[in-house]
Amino acid sequence: MSEETRKIRKLLIANRGEIACRVMMTCRSLGIRTVAVYSDADKDAMHVAMADEAVHIGPPAATESYLVIDKIIGAAKAAGADAIHPGYGFLSENPTFANTCAEEGIIFIGPSAASMDAMALKGAAKKLMTDAGVPVVPGYHGDDQSPELLAAEAEKIGFPVLIKAVAGGGGKGMRIVQHIDELPAAIEAARREGENSFANGKLLIEKLIQKPRHIELQVFGDQDGHAVHLFERDCSLQRRHQKVVEEAPAPGMSPEMRRAMGEAAVKAAQAINYVGAGTVEFIVDVADGLDDAPFYFMEMNTRLQVEHPVTEMITGQDLVEWQIAVAEGQPLPLSQDEVDVLTNGHAVEVRLYAEDPFNGFLPSIGTIGLFDPFADVPANTRIDAGVRDGDEVSIHYDPMIGKLIAWGETREDAVHALSGLLAETPVIGLATNRDFLLRALRHPDFVAGDVHTGFIGQYEDELLAAHEIGVHDYLLASVSIWANRQTVYAASQSNDPWDAHDGFRLNLPHSELLKFESADGEQLVVTLEQTSGQLAARSGDSQITVSDVTVSGNSLSFNDNGVRRQLFISVNDETVALVDAERTISLKRHARDGGGGDDADGPGTIVAPMPGKILEIKVAEGDTVSRGDPLLVMEAMKMEQTIAAPRDGTIATVGAKDGDQVGDGSILIVIEDNS
Ligand code: ADP
Repeated sequence: MSEETRKIRKLLIANRGEIACRVMMTCRSLGIRTVAVYSDADKDAMHVAMADEAVHIGPPAATESYLVIDKIIGAAKAAGADAIHPGYGFLSENPTFANTCAEEGIIFIGPSAASMDAMALKGAAKKLMTDAGVPVVPGYHGDDQSPELLAAEAEKIGFPVLIKAVAGGGGKGMRIVQHIDELPAAIEAARREGENSFANGKLLIEKLIQKPRHIELQVFGDQDGHAVHLFERDCSLQRRHQKVVEEAPAPGMSPEMRRAMGEAAVKAAQAINYVGAGTVEFIVDVADGLDDAPFYFMEMNTRLQVEHPVTEMITGQDLVEWQIAVAEGQPLPLSQDEVDVLTNGHAVEVRLYAEDPFNGFLPSIGTIGLFDPFADVPANTRIDAGVRDGDEVSIHYDPMIGKLIAWGETREDAVHALSGLLAETPVIGLATNRDFLLRALRHPDFVAGDVHTGFIGQYEDELLAAHEIGVHDYLLASVSIWANRQTVYAASQSNDPWDAHDGFRLNLPHSELLKFESADGEQLVVTLEQTSGQLAARSGDSQITVSDVTVSGNSLSFNDNGVRRQLFISVNDETVALVDAERTISLKRHARDGGGGDDADGPGTIVAPMPGKILEIKVAEGDTVSRGDPLLVMEAMKMEQTIAAPRDGTIATVGAKDGDQVGDGSILIVIEDNS
């Protein structure tokens, strides 16, 4: 569109995180200036860094910042923004906010307050849809809320039934009831939850669909009363009614069913004069398969959805660009026929969360490590994120780290591309659901397209089993520590041409002990030995011998028996994190690693790294030694171990002799500076 007709020149995004960044990307491509808002907790956040301007709106709590209408409007005015994009969550479905924007002469990128109101309560929305000829889940959604009537209606529907708070959202206020006896308690609980969370205790009852799929339609309306749909998304992989994996199109859906659902969705949008991006959610009863399965309207979300990228990838359209165009009063960019022919291939998205699936999905907080949302990803994949390496995930906001999306000609291609992308996307520093997502994407039934909302529950034994950590992991951790130290050392020497290559290796000890503490508190010792271009790590009967060990960024690679292997690592004094295509694990280092010492200068006092027997003392008091010279050989845990000089100097004390039994931590040798 030409500059002259552009009504929006500066846009404020009343949100944070990935969606704020996502909206800004489109603005940038359209030449629209962007304004971020931020709380105290977000002053260094990615969305603030990306925006052209930013306005501070208060303390971390969303109720005192991102949810305060006056502050957002004040920020828009201060920055001179013509429009506000609400993102999703926060104020996106708040009719008062939409109205206030209109009153203040600011374009609200979203539907009218009246459209939001029409869909705000599940019961009223169901009635509206029934009147418009859109199928709804059989059930009761009337005004009479007496327990007797609700019981009679539940009997009429037939158990099991689902009770929902009409004002509910995010899976809250819902109760499954298997038998009439459980009904009074369930009504009580759902009502309380509705009152507490949404200040509305009104309930509806509907048939519980036993094997449902969640299939939703992306719709768009313009200000001239036109509406189209941009195909469906299948969000059937859910946990506690929250979406985990989303894809488009729905696997196995026939063109006839797609047409029928698309028409129903457009009808729903038109029934409420919908303007902008919306999603009509249907529940599909797939007890007898997807072909001709009955589908029912569940609710309409009057905003852009988290999972909109899968629709963008199969249609090649930018939905934020569509939102902006429609908000400016332009017609829909494409007609239904044009959308139909454009749609191509398959796309899948996963939501990467800071939570621990192997520990009851407990939310985790902390500093994000290794995650790079700007990584060079393959052309058919995309990462939408609002955080990067070094950012904090705090208790204040949604713990989503980002979304990973992949496209393929076929569903299988898209799923493979997405697991490939996920495997190449390490996140450390806090627990995430990455490995769980990888398992879900690789599950044969998921790959086969057999998805339904009970999927995760059905396969939880496979999907949610904690990783086993074995000796081999500690051996790799030891190689990582060694390699990491080489890199640090090389970096510190990089100004010296004599040390530019691998000369530094000569100075390092040839053998050392590294200690770890296993998950159950046991101490585990690894012997690392460097011989003619090879590095051997041993513990008990286990051993690996690797060569060509290199570190580039956070990627460690080495040659393991002729196979070049690669994994992401992160090493500090306390832990070693290892990330490969299946697992993200963190191994705890023992407080005091013996032998070498990480310091380039090395400590002067050599203590026994573990209890053992001295086999041979190779130096005497007064000898001068260089860093790396063998000092003594001891036997511990039935293994011979050479301890090398951690630094240059003169032997001041030898505290043990051949044949001595020494305890953990006993002083064996002291080296002093050369005089
Ligand atoms: P919320 O607004 O809290 O997200 P929804 O009405 O959108 O609640 O339902 C959320 C999820 O609950 C759906 O995606 C589906 O998995 C499940 N669900 C909803 N209604 C039914 C039903 N009648 N039978 C079985 N499952 C249902």
